[in-house]
Amino acid sequence: MRVASVLSAVLGLARSVVVAGWELVPAVADDRTTLVVRVRPRQRRRGRCGKCAKLAPFYDRGGGERRWRHVDVGFATCELVGPAVRVRCASHGVTVAQVPWARHDSAFTAAFEDLVVHDAVVASKLACARRYGISWRAVNAICWRVAEEMLGRLDLLDGLVAIAIDEVKYKKGQRYLTIVTDHLTGQVVWAAVGRKKKTVHAFFDDLGDERAGQLGFVTCDGAEWIRDVVAIRAPAATVCLDTYHLVSWATDALDEVRREEWNRLRRTGGAKAAKQFKGLRWLLLRNWENLSSGQKGTIRDLERANRRSFRAWQMKEELRDVLSMPLAAARRALDDWLSYASRSRLVPFVKLARTIRHYRASLEATLEWKLTNGLAESTNAAIGRIRANARGFHDPERFITMIMLDRAGLAPPLPWAAGAK
Ligand SMILES: [Zn+2]
Repeated sequence: MRVASVLSAVLGLARSVVVAGWELVPAVADDRTTLVVRVRPRQRRRGRCGKCAKLAPFYDRGGGERRWRHVDVGFATCELVGPAVRVRCASHGVTVAQVPWARHDSAFTAAFEDLVVHDAVVASKLACARRYGISWRAVNAICWRVAEEMLGRLDLLDGLVAIAIDEVKYKKGQRYLTIVTDHLTGQVVWAAVGRKKKTVHAFFDDLGDERAGQLGFVTCDGAEWIRDVVAIRAPAATVCLDTYHLVSWATDALDEVRREEWNRLRRTGGAKAAKQFKGLRWLLLRNWENLSSGQKGTIRDLERANRRSFRAWQMKEELRDVLSMPLAAARRALDDWLSYASRSRLVPFVKLARTIRHYRASLEATLEWKLTNGLAESTNAAIGRIRANARGFHDPERFITMIMLDRAGLAPPLPWAAGAK
């Protein structure tokens, strides 16, 4: 077998790339050994604009040669060296010609970039920068370039029937993103900075009136900034109350009751009881089925120890039960729950009952259409993980890029995955 064929196979070069030569540059100081491979596009791939890939006449030889960092070969780093021919594109003027191994305007090969994006998504940008010995800034640029390329190729907003519109915090101090998720695929399809009517309008502008008319369901929380706009822009869609938010409202109400009781115990001098009670917080907020038998016993004891907290806890669990019932039974159970909560004399639950009455139609739509699959919950958890891996984001656009790469399925397959090239 010829060395050129071995290199072509080992480096995963496409058939449109000719291996014209190679040399091994020995390691110096901190640098590793470098395998330098001279390449050029086959004749038929020459003369295309680097930006739009349209055929374009030859302009000049550019700066002579360019280098691209490629996927490492064992202990050695690898560089492709090739011509930097420029063409004159009818739309883009004089640009560097397209090469089959790299994206436009990059110092890395496409295979190397795909690998970097993969690692940045599954680990973190920092881990990725260390792993490949490139700057954090370079990792950022790569993620952005790959996401842009994929967004240009795909239309994520096509064929949407049921969507969730939600907000995600990206920074302290009321900084939010608006995220749109497809209920059928579970993928994020749109994201932007802000949580205002203007933001939701921008989504519907991108979607267009025709596709908005095909939307059957929109789930969201009680936010009027979403509901008002949906009513105008997708009047045919049924608005559903996301049950994830409903459960979190009930959990908040329970926590408020617990806090009031704790304060009351402290005021009335029951220091020991108050201390014990404080430790209950996480227990109360967890779902009954996830508690150990010992923890369940603690909650049963609460019935005697603190009647009000126990009732609040019961109401939270009952509301969760309602959500898993068939529609007719859920309606009856919800009626019972609402009248009980209204008479409970637990202010947070009286308020919650009022809120639920206000959104009753949306809640019933959710139960009827079973859009209760915890989509918002899993999206929120995944986005939380992305934020934690990055130890927060200063630039919301970078946060959006990572969300789209990970949750919109934009991250390319690993370069050696079947069909990747
Ligand atoms: Zn062009």
